[in-house]
Amino acid sequence: MEPRVKRCRVCGVCSEKMNKCSTCKDRFQLKWYYCSKPCQVSDWPRHKTYHAVLEKMRDEEENRHIKTILDGIANAGSSCSVSREGKDANGMTALLRAASDKNCADVRKLILDGEDPSVADDQGLTALHYAAIDGNQELARTLIEHGPDGLVFGETPGGETSLFLACAKGHLEVARLLAEAGGEALLLRANRNGTSCLHAACRGEHLAV
Ligand SMILES: [Zn+2]
Ligand SMILES: [Zn+2]
Repeated sequence: MEPRVKRCRVCGVCSEKMNKCSTCKDRFQLKWYYCSKPCQVSDWPRHKTYHAVLEKMRDEEENRHIKTILDGIANAGSSCSVSREGKDANGMTALLRAASDKNCADVRKLILDGEDPSVADDQGLTALHYAAIDGNQELARTLIEHGPDGLVFGETPGGETSLFLACAKGHLEVARLLAEAGGEALLLRANRNGTSCLHAACRGEHLAV
């Protein structure tokens, strides 16, 4: 809001009718008035330095605004409502909890209700990895049968597939189920250290696998 009576910044004369620097008027809404052209001209060398300062403040204000938006985007990925959706405080979904409880009926029901069985816990293990580690045939069969096709190829952060884990643990029947589901492509998968399923089985002296 402009004051009704304005004061000349140079000579101090007060009047309702005053000139204003056009840049200030358009860009900065600065209350900086001159009674006459000579007053404005005499103030120009000093006044133009204000423009630079005001411009900088504006940029900083804009950068702050942009930063606020970027921070919002960056934090969105780590906030509870986004990345931990459906997970409890331990990073477990209902399906992962049911799988770790070896409750196959609940696992089946949750998959049929639309829960994604390829979601991993905070250690990067899926329900099928649990089945492989435990040698739980019923759980493995349930997940293979009702889960998405790519589920058997899911890897831990160390690059181990469920088949790899089942072999390493010597769980022959679960390994067979997984190998049948994943075929040769799965058998040839190696972990991050280049160890294949067969290596893992040999190392664990599970020659039957
Ligand atoms: Zn003046
Ligand atoms: Zn100005």
